[in-house]
Amino acid sequence: MNELIPKISISVNDTIRKAMQVIDQGELGFALIIETETKVFKGVITDGDVRRALIKGYGLETSISSISRPESVTARIGTPISEVSRLFSDIVRIIPLLDDNNRVVDLAIFDKRFHLSVAEPTLTDKELQYVTECVLTGWVSSAGEFVSRFEKIFSDYCGIKHAVATSSGTAALHLALVACNIGPGDEVIVPSLTFIATANAVSYTGAKPVFVDIESETWNIDPECIETAITSKTKAIIPVHLYGHPANMQSILEIANRFGLLVIEDAAEAHGAMCRGGKVGTFGNIGIFSFYGNKIVTTGEGGMVVTNDDELAEKIRILCNHGMDKDRRYWHQVLGYNYRLTNVQAALGVAQMEKIDEILQKKCFIGRKYTEFLQNIPGLTLPVEKKWAKSVLWIYSILVDEKKFGITRDKLMEKLSDHDIETRPFFYPLHTQPIYKTAQKLAVAERVSSQGISLPSSVNLSVDDIKRVAESIKAIADT
Ligand SMILES: *Cc1c(COP(=O)(O)O)cnc(C)c1O
Repeated sequence: MNELIPKISISVNDTIRKAMQVIDQGELGFALIIETETKVFKGVITDGDVRRALIKGYGLETSISSISRPESVTARIGTPISEVSRLFSDIVRIIPLLDDNNRVVDLAIFDKRFHLSVAEPTLTDKELQYVTECVLTGWVSSAGEFVSRFEKIFSDYCGIKHAVATSSGTAALHLALVACNIGPGDEVIVPSLTFIATANAVSYTGAKPVFVDIESETWNIDPECIETAITSKTKAIIPVHLYGHPANMQSILEIANRFGLLVIEDAAEAHGAMCRGGKVGTFGNIGIFSFYGNKIVTTGEGGMVVTNDDELAEKIRILCNHGMDKDRRYWHQVLGYNYRLTNVQAALGVAQMEKIDEILQKKCFIGRKYTEFLQNIPGLTLPVEKKWAKSVLWIYSILVDEKKFGITRDKLMEKLSDHDIETRPFFYPLHTQPIYKTAQKLAVAERVSSQGISLPSSVNLSVDDIKRVAESIKAIADT
């Protein structure tokens, strides 16, 4: 038996006072409730249960049998760890392991470090300090100095004239399209392999997204396919810098110039990535970024529109704020939106931007380590970095060829999940999605989508974590 168990056990007849003493000494935040004679497990009592009982007015001498507690989650001793770990949730952090007589013989305790997630934010004192400043000063809505500070730090970072903060990356895309006068009857070319928001923003305007295939190496829009998709209705191209690798902007701009098309860069996944020495987001007429919780820089939810065009910038600012005239309050000449970012979100954004170089260095380090550890596993395709590109490896993503690797992508994901390693599949190609289904066959997008998985890439990963993921993949391949 785990020697901790007697120290944190109390009897069904004990009082709240006794429970508090045991919980306090045990330092795990809970106690086990055990039937005195038989030693049979009766449940768990946590710090929170005690607190709720006291608030309800129960005294310290109340028997714990009379206070309500949630049902306990338990498992049989000998259950494989991978199965036990699936029982953990946001509220279940401790699972008593019982023998055949329902006596506790061991404990499974949730260890946050063991579970590796694909991309979680790193929030530190700086974020707390700035957000606290908003709360203490009362500037919690979309007016406030952090919004303009965030826009300034972001435009400086990109080396671009204007940045307008928005409530999401999708809102940023929508504003970019509206500002470019794209609407019903127009067509906008987008890669088929991207997040749904790229196409949805086009649909919001009444225009039609037209899907094209991707390059097999970078997984980004294939410039050669753009040209064949252009019609008399085409107004714009939205290249996406997928998973942090820039799209081939030189070729895309050349085509756009030749056909007189606008370019809106979806850089939601590629803050800081570079294409021939220039930052992504700055090549097209407009660039957009997302600050969703799993992105390189986060504000919880949030986005940014960037442009060097003074007129477009002013239009976007007005559209973002209900279409309100900039010189006359409550005067509206255009249909606008409320797509503003709050000061609290911008406070997070400023703190995050102050360490973006560190974040990107770590992403790069994680990428190098994965590539080192995953070399030479048959059936895996590792991400590339083209000569002209600086990829930021937002999330490290690989392709799994079932024939050479031995099992399918989905099976690999399932097995990694048993090892407490979270992964995510690539997006489904947009031309195969129920809302956008076309008769197209876009072979590269379809293959890459079905083979792709993204591995844990959070900034807080250690080399040992990366090694653990790589070794799990190797072990799975070998079985
Ligand atoms: C995240 C993302 C978006 C949308 O951003 P939100 O902030 O979630 O609205 C758009 N495009 C791509 C490629 C994304 O990854």
